[in-house]
Amino acid sequence: MKKHNFYAGPSILSEYTIKNAAAAVENFAGTGLSILEVSHRSKEFVAVCNEARALVKELLDVPTGYEVVFLGGGASLQFCMVPYNLLNKKASYLDTGTWASNAIKEAKLFGEVDVVASSKESNYCFIPKDFVVAEDSDYFHFTTNNTIFGTQMHKDPDMKVRLVADMSSDIFSRPVDVSKYDVIYAGAQKNLAPAGVTLAIVREDALGKVERPIPTMLNYATHIKKESMFNTPPVFPIYAALQTLQWYKELGGLEAIERMNVEKAGILYDEIDRNKLFKGTAATEDRSIMNVCFVMNDEYKELEADFNAFASAAGMVGIKGHRSVGGFRASIYNAMPKSGVEALVATMKEFEKQH
Ligand SMILES: *Cc1c(COP(=O)(O)O)cnc(C)c1O
Repeated sequence: MKKHNFYAGPSILSEYTIKNAAAAVENFAGTGLSILEVSHRSKEFVAVCNEARALVKELLDVPTGYEVVFLGGGASLQFCMVPYNLLNKKASYLDTGTWASNAIKEAKLFGEVDVVASSKESNYCFIPKDFVVAEDSDYFHFTTNNTIFGTQMHKDPDMKVRLVADMSSDIFSRPVDVSKYDVIYAGAQKNLAPAGVTLAIVREDALGKVERPIPTMLNYATHIKKESMFNTPPVFPIYAALQTLQWYKELGGLEAIERMNVEKAGILYDEIDRNKLFKGTAATEDRSIMNVCFVMNDEYKELEADFNAFASAAGMVGIKGHRSVGGFRASIYNAMPKSGVEALVATMKEFEKQH
């Protein structure tokens, strides 16, 4: 039976990525060697890494003065690397979920942290809008898409201070005005590659402004200077990332991808709003086009386990919601085809008919 992969991360990758990655496991770039066993300093892999960095710049229209690096440690290491490199005295953070609050916790190790607003009291079901960011903040940090709670900031905010964003679960889902940011980072395992690599886009002149010594591996400047080859980078995930980036370019770039994502998410939210059994958990205006969270309507609460079993029998994988929200979460990243969303909607309609 056809499986539809709604896992939140690691998550669905395009057929293009998986086919090319599988072929390179057998024979990488005609070398007669597997991508799993080649030197990261081989000319073939250096070319892969450089092409991937260049494609990130092309797709996101990254202005000059920025560098793209591939790092280890996941997005979670960026929670520490960002303040290590950028927080001199004070930084402002928006608390919109579990990942945002993890980032806040790390930043507090490095200086004063002003949490400008939080939706924690409402179990993070919306993105706070009325808040003031102190103009003397070194930067303003936020999570563009809250993977667990299914909320998303749909625009780059207009601020007097420089922006830093965790875009782990919506990078490449839509165009972004990179020029407003000092750092954008994203773990690869949602919209780019298998787990193991993290992408960072860093404005070079934001660096060198803190007095503390920075350990070599945690210093963005190290990785920029060595073009992501200071130490052994995650070779296979970077190869897979390149395939995904090439596929994004073939699809027509981020504006085309955003249109597809908006359409897919619309199909699913329309069904959640229409179907008597279900309701969405995120505030309507903040609904994510990547992670769609929903629960059983109050009168049908006892059907939750039944729907889970019914959906898995129909080939839906990974729709159980995160334990902090409950219910269901369908992650519909870039690689999820419209037909996968339609299959989930058909399953919801069928389940409704039976109840
Ligand atoms: C998944 C995720 C993380 C954590 O990523 P790791 O690579 O596991 O450290 C951080 N932020 C967001 C928004 C995420 O979706």
